[in-house]
Amino acid sequence: MRIRVGHLYPEYLNIYADRGNIAVLTRRAALRGHELVVTAISVGDALPADAYDLLYVGGGQDREQALIAPDLEAKSDALHAAHARGAAMLAVCGGYQLLGRGYRGRDGSFLPGAGLFGHETVAGDVRMIGDVLLECELEPGVRCRIAGFENHAGRTVLDPNATPLGRVIHGFGNDGSSGFEGCRLGRALGTYLHGPLLPRNPWLADWLLAQALGHATDGTPPQLEPLSDTLEQDAFRVAAERARKRGGRR
Ligand code: GLN
Repeated sequence: MRIRVGHLYPEYLNIYADRGNIAVLTRRAALRGHELVVTAISVGDALPADAYDLLYVGGGQDREQALIAPDLEAKSDALHAAHARGAAMLAVCGGYQLLGRGYRGRDGSFLPGAGLFGHETVAGDVRMIGDVLLECELEPGVRCRIAGFENHAGRTVLDPNATPLGRVIHGFGNDGSSGFEGCRLGRALGTYLHGPLLPRNPWLADWLLAQALGHATDGTPPQLEPLSDTLEQDAFRVAAERARKRGGRR
């Protein structure tokens, strides 16, 4: 199958090698005989609601977020439509913040967001930096762990009816106090976790690929044949151990 990926603002939102997530998805798809076709979608580019099986947006400094926020807000209807039609999504840090209702910077300025996720973010004075370990349940009864790295000033507050991506075991997470990290809305995932995220969390990469294939085939997400993820599991163990040792400490 051809899996069509829309990469939002790759030249603006790509800190901590967030574009590495695309490389992992490309490789893991190819190992199952699928081809990932990645299209960069930037300021002024169209976003047809049916054009992509997976949409991806990385993280960035406040300055870069300010450069793209008006364009992302203008794409809000298309993002909602793509989501409603079952496209998978992964949004990291600054991109995650702007898929909510908006981000208020330390200078008081407000960047309106796409309003897909039920949350809002306000920048605090102290950045939340370090390794993170989460527990999540994307499929009923299937508990998994995610390890990554966070660096954000933003404190994201989820709406009461919004679903977090996971429970923080070690780290700060959305706001350093709720005990939750990220947000999930069906096939759309938002997270503060960089690293990049997917090389050390291969099951999550496969979950996203399966959702994208479900969209591409207009069917249920398929079970992907397992890969021997020795290196990936080692990377996860190292990251999880760092989080255990240091995560969530100022
Ligand atoms: N600029 C945002 C913040 O500081 C997002 C940072 C990021 O993407 N790592 O919270």
